[in-house]
Amino acid sequence: TLKMGIVGLPNVGKSTTFNLLSNLNIPAENYPFCTIDPNLAKVFVDDERFDKLCEIHKPKSKVPATLSIMDIAGLVPGASKGEGLGNAFLSHIRETDAIYHVVRAFDDPEITHTENEVNPVRDMQIISDELVYKDQEILGKRLEEVNHKINRFNDKDAKEEKEILDKVDALLKAKKWVRTADWNATEVDILNKYMFLTSKPVVYLVNLSSEDYMRKKNKWLVKIKEWITTNCPGEIIPYSADHEKQILEGKQDSKTSMMSRIIKTGYKVLDLIYFFTAGPDEVRAWTVRAESRAPQAAGVIHTDFEKGFICAEIMKYDDFIAAGSENAVKAEGKYYQKGKEYVVQDGDIIFFKFNV
Ligand code: GDP
Repeated sequence: TLKMGIVGLPNVGKSTTFNLLSNLNIPAENYPFCTIDPNLAKVFVDDERFDKLCEIHKPKSKVPATLSIMDIAGLVPGASKGEGLGNAFLSHIRETDAIYHVVRAFDDPEITHTENEVNPVRDMQIISDELVYKDQEILGKRLEEVNHKINRFNDKDAKEEKEILDKVDALLKAKKWVRTADWNATEVDILNKYMFLTSKPVVYLVNLSSEDYMRKKNKWLVKIKEWITTNCPGEIIPYSADHEKQILEGKQDSKTSMMSRIIKTGYKVLDLIYFFTAGPDEVRAWTVRAESRAPQAAGVIHTDFEKGFICAEIMKYDDFIAAGSENAVKAEGKYYQKGKEYVVQDGDIIFFKFNV
């Protein structure tokens, strides 16, 4: 399954944030055969459509979509050269599919900043540099191999690969993330083999003081946005770990929480969508990669569904809500039968027909 990793310098609020997320952890009894990993949180993804379907069907069982989030302890300057537990952290990042980058923009004299003073832009640059250095190391090794193949065997594939790697090299030398360039589908296929750290999508979690968060002002926000736009574009979510803790303690209005938005955004950058199966027994959200076709989507439910796939019967969520019932949707001619080429859309309500 795809997962997000939480990354950032020490003392920026990563563990606090991870603990807040773990608090939303799905009860372990829902996963009887899984070992519990303290560094992994599995949380439900909120969705109004899911809630609405449950309200209508009043099912015996409800299974929302989930997101996995991994806590990756503090990265320090020099990690790419093995400082701290650098290489271990970087290999953990490699295992994740996208990054939550926690950035400290709160002042608190009680809490030391490892780089002495609060400066989120410098911090983002430090983290970015470490990831870039690590990618350069991987790239260097790979370029050697490719050059060898070209020199010895005049290998055609190797030449093609070298063109792509040279483009990566130029980007990294400019300290740009691999993902900021335009890549065509063939290039993406080749790049996928390397799992460059800077090819991962990033969501920036800007940790503010509770006060700044509530008044929606912080002196760093403009500079943070500028840095992100020029260096590595990604969604920015200002929040406050401290404020979220106060919400848990009942001292603040839960409507001001950003946790749900953080989770939804992670789900979105992983390029995941879900379709629903819905009836009186169960309402369930099934996670698939965007662009999945109907048989692959059926396979997520059960491999037999994919093997024996006949067709998918589909209602659009909005049509179902507007019409009020499945029969009304059918009467309006909006209950569709789709074949194996159908690309599943987010929010489709599907009933699969299959041969056993
Ligand atoms: P990590 O090293 O990045 O995992 O950081 P921690 O989550 O352990 O946080 C370091 C310290 O900062 C802890 O004492 C937290 O209570 C504190 N902290 C985290 N977030 C906030 C915040 O939003 N405001 C303030 N004032 N303190 C925070």
